[in-house]
Amino acid sequence: MPFVPAPQPCWLILAEDDWLGCGACWGRATALAAVVWAEELAAGAVMDGPPVVRLSDGYCVLLSCSGCGEWWAAEDGMAVHSAEMVEALKGAFEDGWVGDVCPACQAAELMP
Ligand SMILES: [Zn+2]
Ligand SMILES: [Zn+2]
Repeated sequence: MPFVPAPQPCWLILAEDDWLGCGACWGRATALAAVVWAEELAAGAVMDGPPVVRLSDGYCVLLSCSGCGEWWAAEDGMAVHSAEMVEALKGAFEDGWVGDVCPACQAAELMP
């Protein structure tokens, strides 16, 4: 099963009820929220107020490759959290994943 719930509920970062991301603890989430907020403002977004941080009542979805079992991870090596499976697939696709198969496994399949 390539979709695995996160080990514990995360702190969600929400702006106007949109899910922007999350952190494993309050400190990490608020730090991330500040970064996201700055990015949104820099991008010219008009928002009612800064993102809010709230303890999730569910679990984030982590995606692992159905071939090698590697996590879909960000550049810093941390597994990427998604609000739901559809979102995970969409995000991973932008990183070169096809479905639940990572770019490395696709490359391996293309090898003779
Ligand atoms: Zn999370
Ligand atoms: Zn793989």
